[in-house]
Amino acid sequence: MGFRPFVYNLAKKLSLVGFVLNNPQGVILEVQGRRDNLDDFVSSLQARAPSISTIDSITCREIPLQKEKEFSIKESVRGGERFTRLPRDMVVCNECLEEFFDQNDRRFLYPFINCTQCGPRYSIIRDVPYDRKATTMKAFTMCKDCLLEYENPQNRRFHAQPNACFKCGPKMSLIQEGKDTKTSTDPVELSAELLFKGEVVAIKGLGGYHLACNAKDTRAVRILREIKQRPHKPFALMADRVNFIESFCQVNSKEKELLLSKERPIVLLKIKKKNNWTHLVAPHQEYLGIMLAYTPLHYIIFKYLRLQDKEPLLVMTSANKKDLPLMHREEDIFSFKRKVRYFLISDRDINNACDDSIARENNGTIYMLRKARGFSPDILQAPFTFKSEILATGAELKNTFSLAKEDKIITSVYIGDLKNLATFNFYKKNIGFLKNIFSVHPKVYAYDLHPEYLSTKYALKEKNKSIKVLGIQHHHAHIASCMFENNLRAGEKVIGVCFDGLGYGSDATIWGGEFFLADCRDFERAGHIEPFGLLGGDEASQQPWRIGFYFLYKIFKDTMWNLDIEFVRNLDKKKCKVLKKLLNSNLTPYTSSMGRIFDAASSLLGIRDIITYEAQAAIELEMLATRYRHNEPKGYSFEIKPEGKKFIIKIDNLIKEIVDDLQHQKEKSAIAFRFHVTIKDIICKVCALLKGKWGIDKVVLSGGVFQNKLLLDLVTCSLPDCGFRVYTHSRIPTNDEGISVGQLIIANCIL
Ligand code: ZN
Ligand code: ZN
Ligand code: FE
Repeated sequence: MGFRPFVYNLAKKLSLVGFVLNNPQGVILEVQGRRDNLDDFVSSLQARAPSISTIDSITCREIPLQKEKEFSIKESVRGGERFTRLPRDMVVCNECLEEFFDQNDRRFLYPFINCTQCGPRYSIIRDVPYDRKATTMKAFTMCKDCLLEYENPQNRRFHAQPNACFKCGPKMSLIQEGKDTKTSTDPVELSAELLFKGEVVAIKGLGGYHLACNAKDTRAVRILREIKQRPHKPFALMADRVNFIESFCQVNSKEKELLLSKERPIVLLKIKKKNNWTHLVAPHQEYLGIMLAYTPLHYIIFKYLRLQDKEPLLVMTSANKKDLPLMHREEDIFSFKRKVRYFLISDRDINNACDDSIARENNGTIYMLRKARGFSPDILQAPFTFKSEILATGAELKNTFSLAKEDKIITSVYIGDLKNLATFNFYKKNIGFLKNIFSVHPKVYAYDLHPEYLSTKYALKEKNKSIKVLGIQHHHAHIASCMFENNLRAGEKVIGVCFDGLGYGSDATIWGGEFFLADCRDFERAGHIEPFGLLGGDEASQQPWRIGFYFLYKIFKDTMWNLDIEFVRNLDKKKCKVLKKLLNSNLTPYTSSMGRIFDAASSLLGIRDIITYEAQAAIELEMLATRYRHNEPKGYSFEIKPEGKKFIIKIDNLIKEIVDDLQHQKEKSAIAFRFHVTIKDIICKVCALLKGKWGIDKVVLSGGVFQNKLLLDLVTCSLPDCGFRVYTHSRIPTNDEGISVGQLIIANCIL
């Protein structure tokens, strides 16, 4: 990242001699010269280092005078203990862009232009230290001009490992249905034309392939939905200018900063006004996920698109098949051949696939919803030293894993849903890669209690005399990850509120609406939602109407058929008969899941009976509630009953009152909003009871349900008014991506 050139120039300026070198732990510097210049040197290291570099610590030691005449950059040292930061992929920098758009520059519109301040890093790395030999750029030999830049300490491309140009570097080509098109036109220009005309083009990016189409062409978007077999899930968009985004989305200054940041995540932005294409790109949503162009290739595509359309906008969705990992190799992407006609490929290999990251700004805080390109692998500093090197294998959905070494946590990239062999192989490859890069040899494996998770099976398979395994409860891991993120002491007792979809409980039932008295070592289940039946097991998660039916039948028995609501009118009586039989069978799992209660409400309101992507019903319920624009209504009622040492939350009244409002034709957005207020009330009420009992005023919120911005806003506003201090996630996602960090923290406490 231009650190050694910076050091070199600084040393020259201060008339110091010595050397700088990269070793697997970081950077070693030896300098000699006048005392005041040396002091100046050390303070400038911190103050003036390139903005993309991070200095964790500087250790200084005096050594005897060496015979040196000049300052030099020495060859990197390989092997030995490794512990360094992994450089991340970065947006093309302004200086490169200037050359890129300059007709007289030798890299005019070169899709792979880069320098020490920008370009690919993580995606092309095979090993550390980070040198060209250890990347996929090894295949290209620098031409004379490039080599001159590479070897000149005064040059911006001094030791820029992926340095390349038209003459010597990678090239793009456009493949049509698997055959090289071989036209005289520039393949990128041709791709832009095809996109404008409504074609779907697979485009090789930084961390993998995108499937792209013109976002404003509803026919093209429909075709893309067909190709991805994704009828409703919102697509990510890409634009090249913020002011165009501002014409259809609200963008505040923080969001603008986030859009323009060097990580260039997908940012969730509130839609200003909806139209044909917003409905199709993001059905039933109030937010669009948008990113700015971030590679030189994107800039060329947009330059050519602009010739046709003053305000170009692309759908840029990850190229993958349902539930499978992001594609990054040509042999994988060509499996789309029958459906996608055009492939814009390049001969620069991607070694490490990495999805786009997703973030949202809320009241000044950035919330990471998916930590991938630009944000991961991440290194988190712990305020203690781990008792052992540990691997935490994570959960199933939105899996990540984490490694602990010394006082650091290394979190993996976003792996995805660990439900099939392809994703599992990607997971294993990444574990091997990070273990090697950071030289971690875990003696302890922490895993989720769910016996069917592939991550669990992976850990248990490794169990032997020298490897110890520790099962960590899912929701406890959620709470511990949030405690860690907020610098709460591991032994500090907090009220943990964990709401998510489904997680395996320590009593072998399925949890998900939990109140804990917890620290990072232990927890006590202090309260939870009264368990309800998942009729049909897994199918109930895909078909929220089954949970809606469960509650109606439980409350109204056969008089439910007299209820004058759409939900009942739409029920398939035959299927309901089958469900009734399931009610009293031991095939029906019971759960306290809060996520499934959102699903049930969504279905009862007639919003979504069957989902096509995870959490769809709950998200659409939130979106409907967000459209409600009046004063905050009162919540519905519910009961809290003590049972042994726990509080049980009963929501039958909530369901009854929703049905009542539906029968009175109350506005659905108002009902959806009141539902959210009720969940907020439940949290406040139970926390107040627990505070009364234990005298604890710290509340830690975690779990996928808190991705719900409306609920999070309501809760974080209300709890402080009731005398609580509230802790939420920001850098670590609140969904299951955060589980592996929590597993590490708890495992360490147990050790
Ligand atoms: Zn650059
Ligand atoms: Zn060259
Ligand atoms: Fe979870």
